[in-house]
Amino acid sequence: MPSMSNSIPQNAAEDPEREKFRSFLSHHVISPLTKPRELIATHDVLMITLDALRYDVAQDALAAGMTPNFEDILPGSSWELRQTPGNFTYSAHQAFFAGFLPTPDSPGPHARLFAAKFSGSETTDEDTLVFESADIVSGFASLGYHTVCIGGVGFFNKQNPLGCVLPSLFAESHWDESLSVTSRNSTANQFSLAVDIANHSVAADKRLFTFINVSALHQPNCIFSQNATEDTKQTQMEALAYVDRHIPMLLSRLRHRAPLIVLIFSDHGTAYGEDGYVGHRINHETVLTVPYIDFVI
Ligand SMILES: [Zn+2]
Repeated sequence: MPSMSNSIPQNAAEDPEREKFRSFLSHHVISPLTKPRELIATHDVLMITLDALRYDVAQDALAAGMTPNFEDILPGSSWELRQTPGNFTYSAHQAFFAGFLPTPDSPGPHARLFAAKFSGSETTDEDTLVFESADIVSGFASLGYHTVCIGGVGFFNKQNPLGCVLPSLFAESHWDESLSVTSRNSTANQFSLAVDIANHSVAADKRLFTFINVSALHQPNCIFSQNATEDTKQTQMEALAYVDRHIPMLLSRLRHRAPLIVLIFSDHGTAYGEDGYVGHRINHETVLTVPYIDFVI
């Protein structure tokens, strides 16, 4: 495979993939995800966590024209600001898989899309897809979905008991270094694997729940920038531009299989020196606010 240029945003007018994606979008309506219960049995599910992506970085990348494919699928060409239920990968994903996706950034209560059944929930309404299981992955499996996990960062590496906890929720899970934070081709490899599984390993009439933990935004994201040796907001923007270039292939190929429920969000942000903080697992605004989108296509 030829090496990729990872840092230079491509001009849409010169990029045939962009034109193909725009043609694809012109033939497939994007609609809000409001009643997931009505889509079971007909729609596949794609859940992507953009690990450690900051909300302000995602918005700045949009404004700079670095993420034109995300721009095409975002309503109003803007990420929704949400609050994460966890300030690092493990806690955030445990919450997500229990049905607590990032919370809208306004006074609630906010009804949830998915929930594991428990009495007294004030964020479950008539449109919430409620599962009898303790996690939504097992819940989708109980409805006949084949569940696939593609890691990701260390909490998905299956190299120790802790690294097996999240992947073990799924019927099928994958991790190797080519998908990990140290690979300059991680997103291309992750998305290609997802497409291969969707189109070659699962019966066409079997519904599919694909989860991908995108590793490229996590430290060290400076590997996607030229001449950078440490992570900054700028290098995370350039890593997101790299991820953006692979979104068309993933969405168009998965949508070719079946209509899709799509959820894309960050598990938490990360601090780059603000107020003296660096990293995450801290309750700082740079960590707790995350970009979010869901839709049906
Ligand atoms: Zn994370």
